[in-house]
Amino acid sequence: MNPNPTKVVTRFAPSPTGFMHVGGVRTALYGWLFARKHGGTFILRIEDTDKKREVAGSIEHIVESLRWLGLEWNEGVDIGGPHAPYKQSERLASYQKYARILIDKGYAYPDPYTEEEVAVFRQRAEDEKRPFLYREHRPEVFGAWDGTKPLRFKVPMIKRYEWYDEVRGELSAGEEALDDFILIKSDGYPTYNFAHIIDDHEMGVTHIMRGQEFISSMPIYLSLYEALGIDRPRFATMPPIMAADGKKKLGKRDGAKDVLEYRDEGYIPEAMVNFLAFIGWNPGDEREVMTTNELIESFSLKHLHKAGAKFNEEKLLWFNHKHLQRLSSTEFEARLRAFLSTTDMQAPTYLAQVVPLLQARAQTLMEAAQMLTGGEFSFMAETTFPTKELLLQGAKADDVSVKTHLQKVITLLQDLASFDQGSVKEVIFPYATEVGRSAVLWPMRVALSGMEKSPDPFTLAGLLGRQRTLARIEKALQLL
Ligand code: GLU
Repeated sequence: MNPNPTKVVTRFAPSPTGFMHVGGVRTALYGWLFARKHGGTFILRIEDTDKKREVAGSIEHIVESLRWLGLEWNEGVDIGGPHAPYKQSERLASYQKYARILIDKGYAYPDPYTEEEVAVFRQRAEDEKRPFLYREHRPEVFGAWDGTKPLRFKVPMIKRYEWYDEVRGELSAGEEALDDFILIKSDGYPTYNFAHIIDDHEMGVTHIMRGQEFISSMPIYLSLYEALGIDRPRFATMPPIMAADGKKKLGKRDGAKDVLEYRDEGYIPEAMVNFLAFIGWNPGDEREVMTTNELIESFSLKHLHKAGAKFNEEKLLWFNHKHLQRLSSTEFEARLRAFLSTTDMQAPTYLAQVVPLLQARAQTLMEAAQMLTGGEFSFMAETTFPTKELLLQGAKADDVSVKTHLQKVITLLQDLASFDQGSVKEVIFPYATEVGRSAVLWPMRVALSGMEKSPDPFTLAGLLGRQRTLARIEKALQLL
């Protein structure tokens, strides 16, 4: 229970049924941002009461995904906390306790029917085109519950329920949604409907943030809060994530993949967080590229959209590029090295020298790694050497004038006080403009890279440094 009711407590409560897709991660992110914004607590709870649906390794995967994104929890599975354990399968005693309270109050009873009998009731309702309501078959007298039969809730009153949704405003639903749902199954595990209410209450959760698929069950949740005599928390319904065409909910075929796949493709967590935050929310101003701290500061449930928000991978790529560019070059290099170490690509010796180029161009760490190891910068090693044909190919000038120009380039560069991309450009560019740009810049570039395509000659000279630049031009001159 929450000893300090003004303190915000949110939770992310995934079921360990597979990988973490973007929808789940975004729910976690909003809960985390909201808790951080209000100096509150963020809990990671695992809802593993449906053993049939459980997928081995999911919990580790959830933990790894959230950690990668930096969404650290204050309490939860693997770190514990004042309300441990944080796995529902280990909290059965707690559900039993509340089940007994309900039985004692006359609000719970063992289901006397077999599954087959319930199936017949359901079929009959379907044949008669009526909604199936278990409560219409509620037995008159309740036996004692020995745990071998499902325990059902006896919904105390059939009435209309109203509640406030922090995103959608005033909502209400009536009797059609109220029924004697199962609290504890015959296998001893609670249902989601029961367990989450007990856990949220015991853990002092103040705000429940979850998908719209739970709205239709709100009356049964509200009737259970009432029967238990516990306060309702606040509710916030997340906007659904739609496929890029905006027409249907995002499915696996539209790119709803495992969030860790993005890490392996070279996306960085701050970009992913920024991108996810903007699916269904905005800060209420023009800003788009935001750090995680800026997101925390600006976050508010009031700016969550009611309607579905589109998932657009191109936008993710754009965010990633922007966030890569915001890193310091040391940080970029560190991230790139860490990324390379997870692949079979090897970092070449000149990695540090080409970092500025990679950082300006690559949209993902994978792209940077591929530029680095794919031969694009192989001119950085000593091995490349041009041919005469290539030196002249784009020069639009004969070998004699190309020779003169390269000699002039040597003279201009040899006495430069400081040698970098900018100072090289400052002396070469005016000369090239005067005598013909392609006649100077093409052969200079080819002399330095040995390649038909490469960065511009000033960048190359800056990367190679004075000695190697002059040596390569000298070598090229011998071809002419
Ligand atoms: N265990 C539920 C799910 O994974 C969580 C719903 C909730 O947040 O209450 O869908």
